Amino acid sequence: MFLIVGNGMVGLAIAAGLSRSIPGERIQVVGPAARPYSASMAAAAMLNSFAELEPGALDQPRDRLKFELSQASARLWQGFVEEFEIPAEHYRLGTVLVNNNASNRFEDAAFDAIAGYLDEFTEPYERVDPQVEPAYVPDASYRTRQALFLPREGVLNPDGVIHALQATLQKRGVRFVDGVVKSMNKAGDSTAGVTLEDGQVLSAERIVLANGSMATRLWDEPGCIRVINSVGATVVLKNAGIKGRYVLRTPNRGGACGIYHAPYQDDLFVVGATNLVTTADEQFPRAESVAALINGAINQVNHLHRTSGFIRYNFGYRPLSMDGYPVIGQLNDNTFITSGTRRDGYHFAPWLADNLAALLLGQTVSAAAREYFDFARPQRSAWLDQSVEACCRKYAAVKCSALSQHGYDAGHTDANQALEQYYYQRAKAFFDKHELEQAVQVDFVDALLAGFLSPSDFA
Ligand SMILES: Cc1cc2nc3c(=O)[nH]c(=O)nc-3n(C[C@H](O)[C@H](O)[C@H](O)COP(=O)(O)OP(=O)(O)OC[C@H]3O[C@@H](n4cnc5c(N)ncnc54)[C@H](O)[C@@H]3O)c2cc1C
Repeated sequence: MFLIVGNGMVGLAIAAGLSRSIPGERIQVVGPAARPYSASMAAAAMLNSFAELEPGALDQPRDRLKFELSQASARLWQGFVEEFEIPAEHYRLGTVLVNNNASNRFEDAAFDAIAGYLDEFTEPYERVDPQVEPAYVPDASYRTRQALFLPREGVLNPDGVIHALQATLQKRGVRFVDGVVKSMNKAGDSTAGVTLEDGQVLSAERIVLANGSMATRLWDEPGCIRVINSVGATVVLKNAGIKGRYVLRTPNRGGACGIYHAPYQDDLFVVGATNLVTTADEQFPRAESVAALINGAINQVNHLHRTSGFIRYNFGYRPLSMDGYPVIGQLNDNTFITSGTRRDGYHFAPWLADNLAALLLGQTVSAAAREYFDFARPQRSAWLDQSVEACCRKYAAVKCSALSQHGYDAGHTDANQALEQYYYQRAKAFFDKHELEQAVQVDFVDALLAGFLSPSDFA
C-alpha cells in the first residue's frame, strides 16, 4: 500500500503518477476533505515560467535547471488534462504580460528581463497592444501600451482541476480518507504507518509526506530543512459585463507576483495574489491584502470591476522552505517528502506525477531529475549564495516597489531615494549585527526583522 499524506495538488499528482502503473486500490490519500488553508484551493492557478522571471533569476545553475524542468512540465499539462479527464475549460492558455506604471522601475527591469529570457530560449511570443485581452480597460492613469503575448503560458481553474482529478482517481480505485494525520508511526529506520486525529491507524509500505506547509510539523528531524507558510490570497469577482479571454498580469513586483487577472468560469474572474512569509497560522487574509487586490483589479485591469460582485476570497499557505526551493526526497527507508513548491506547485504537477511516481517505485529517472532531486533533498541547510550587499539592495528595491504599488507618492521630494536608503540600511544593520556573510532570500528579510525567524533557522 502507498500512503500519500496530503490531498492538495501535489498529493493528487503523486497519486495520479502512481495510478499509471499500480492498481488504484493500492493507493491511499489522506487529508481533510475541505482542505482548509491549503495552497491548492487558494491559488489562481497560473501556469507561468517566463512571466515569473526577474533580473538574474537564472544566474544560478540550479535556478536554470528548475526553469528548464518547469518548461518540461508546462509541455506535459495538455496530456495530463486529457489523461485524467479534467474538463478542457479548466485549462486555458494565453497570457498578456503588461508593464504598467502602477509601481516603479523594479517592474520595468523585470519586464525587460522576461523579454530577454524569451529571446534567449526562443520561446514564441509577440509584442502586442494589451487590448488584445478584451477585459483590459484600466483606469486612464494606469494604462499602458507595453505588453507581450505568451501563447504557451496560461491558467488552471484550481477547484475544477482538484475535483476532476480526485473523481478520476476514485474511478481508478484510489481511496481517499477524510482525516488529519496526527503522528507518524516510526519503527527503527522506517515508518509503519500513521495515526489520525480520530485515532484511526493507517499502515503502508511506502509513505509520502505531501501535506504542503505542514510537512515539518509531522517530520521535524534535525538536519532537515524546515517548511513554513507563505500566506497568500486571491479574490473572485463577478461581472457579466466583462469578457475575459486570456490571463492578464504584470511581472513580479513588491515581493509578490504583481497583479494578475484570469477568467475563471462564465462571468467570474480571479485576481491575485498576495504574499506574507510567516511561521504563524494566520486565519484570514488581512484587510489591506484584499483591498490591494480589489483596487488592483479596478485600477489596473478593468474599471468596471468597481461594480463587480465580490464573491469570495481564497486563502491558503504556500509551502515555503527556508531557501525557497522545493523539498523532495527520501526521509527514511520507506518515507518520502514532496513539499516546498511555493509558487509553482500547479505548474510542476505533471512533472511531479511522472518523477515522484518513478522515485517511489524505484524506477530510473532522467539525469536532470536526479540533479534536481539532489539539490531539493530534505537533508540540507538553506542554499544561501547571495551576497549580503545584493540582498540588501534587492530588499530596498522590493520594499520601494511595494510602496509604489500601494499608492505611495513622494510628491516633489527626494523621499524615494531616502526610503530606499533606509530599507537598505535596515537590512544591512541586521546582517551586520548577526555577522552573516551570506544572505537569505529577500522574501525572508521581513520575517527575520520581525522576529518570526532567526538566522539559525537557515543553518
Ligand atoms: C495565493 C496563492 C497563489 C498561488 N498561485 C499559484 C500559481 O499561480 N501557480 C502555481 O503553480 N502555484 C501557485 N500557488 C502555489 C500552489 O498553490 C502550491 O505550490 C501547491 O498548491 C502546493 O500543493 P501541496 O499539495 O503541496 O500543498 P497544499 O495545497 O497546501 O495541500 C496540502 C494538503 O495537505 C493537507 N494536510 C495538512 N496537514 C495534514 C495532515 N497532518 N494530515 C493530512 N493532511 C494534511 C491540507 O489540508 C491540504 O489539503 C499559489 C499559492 C497561493 C497560496
